[in-house]
Amino acid sequence: MNCVSICLRSSVLYLFLASACALSVDEMDGAESGLFKDTLRDEAITRLNELGKVSDANGYLERTFMSKASLRAGNLIRDWMEDAGLATWMDCMGNVHGRVEGLNSSAEALLIGSHLDTVVDAGIFDGSLGIIAAVSALKVLKSNGLLSKLKRPVEVIAFSDEEGVRFQSTFLGSAAIAGILPVSALQTSDKSGVTVEDALKENSIDIAEESLSQLKYDRHSVWGYVELHIEQGPVLEYVGFPIGVVKGIAGQTRLKVTVKGSQGHAGTVPMSLRQDPMAAAAELIVLLESLCKDPKAFLSYDGQCADSIVESLSSSLVCTVGEISTWPSASNVIPGQVTFTVDLRAIDDIGRQAVLYELSNRMYQICERRSVHCHIEHKHNANAVMCDPELSSQLKVAANASLKRMTGEIQDEVPVLMSGAGHDAMAMSHLTKVGMLFIRCRGGVSHSPTEHVSDDDVWAAGLTVLSFLETHM
Ligand SMILES: [Zn+2]
Repeated sequence: MNCVSICLRSSVLYLFLASACALSVDEMDGAESGLFKDTLRDEAITRLNELGKVSDANGYLERTFMSKASLRAGNLIRDWMEDAGLATWMDCMGNVHGRVEGLNSSAEALLIGSHLDTVVDAGIFDGSLGIIAAVSALKVLKSNGLLSKLKRPVEVIAFSDEEGVRFQSTFLGSAAIAGILPVSALQTSDKSGVTVEDALKENSIDIAEESLSQLKYDRHSVWGYVELHIEQGPVLEYVGFPIGVVKGIAGQTRLKVTVKGSQGHAGTVPMSLRQDPMAAAAELIVLLESLCKDPKAFLSYDGQCADSIVESLSSSLVCTVGEISTWPSASNVIPGQVTFTVDLRAIDDIGRQAVLYELSNRMYQICERRSVHCHIEHKHNANAVMCDPELSSQLKVAANASLKRMTGEIQDEVPVLMSGAGHDAMAMSHLTKVGMLFIRCRGGVSHSPTEHVSDDDVWAAGLTVLSFLETHM
């Protein structure tokens, strides 16, 4: 199926959903209808707004690891967890937990989580929606008398650090629980020289090597990890769906490319005699864009990539040059050196390596033709994390069921997406199988105060978690 037919089908479906939704919402808005609008939509929205006001800054939202606002947010989340019938505690990395044991406290537990920290000048949904939707769904089970009848323990975790704003090291909270946080991370300092260990001590938490290793969950005690998060991209809005299932989190490579030429006078060196690194860098950047827009044209011709890999690259490869600097950076000087970064992400690790190989070869060829010197440095490499196929299909069934509950019959299945952004699920995948759901956000905008999720999409999020718990737990 081509893109046009997907889009057409989707917009028809969207119109159908919109009209079906308007009808059913008016007709069924009580708990009797199985929609739990009061808890899953109205109360969840009130809580999102309330949590969105808990900030370290005046006039905008900012909550960083172990800050005063983070602790206030943690207490608020604990109140809501207790209101949902969960036993709560804060661990020694500042993660807030709420747990219900169900019928068998020794069974493997389902963990559901997202993060309570934010970026600077954040939106109110990033992280918070995943926590609040899970707590709201459990509250519905409590009101129905079903909480104690869960087949296995269910634990909601609000992670203390995903964004990494304060210490530049993401996943302090989830990495500790997954057992992959090195002890050296405790000595990382923030801008004012305060270490992670100091920040915890300021809040009467003494953390030593043993307490860090005690934080690690025993993998035999865990059934799986589910995370619900705003999409932070425009795909769900584009295809007209409130919810999507995440296939995996993209692997990532960061490069630093240095191009050296011959520095000279902008007025006196004839064009034919220049070795201009700026013009070369421009050609390299356009090459990167062309390759990432159409990897098929670059990779498939000599059989270095299987068709399935090229296909996966065509739908998931994204490349960005976000930073460029030039020396000496003057308007009347041909630069001597240009440096730029490349951020390259794809869901297929072999495909990503093939792209890097092809990109490097072609970059060196361009530099040779232009008589400039190129150096490509690999600064960061992280492999993709694939979500568990069975858990993902269970989440897909739950998402379809919740949309059906809200709109009546639907004609199509919720879309499957790749995540280009990192999430706590990446760290948790070292502990257990993971599954993720994305919720549509307006314009795909995130990490901004204009970040927005519609009231009914907040509802769909809570209802999906509820459907999943009802069916599988
Ligand atoms: Zn987030």
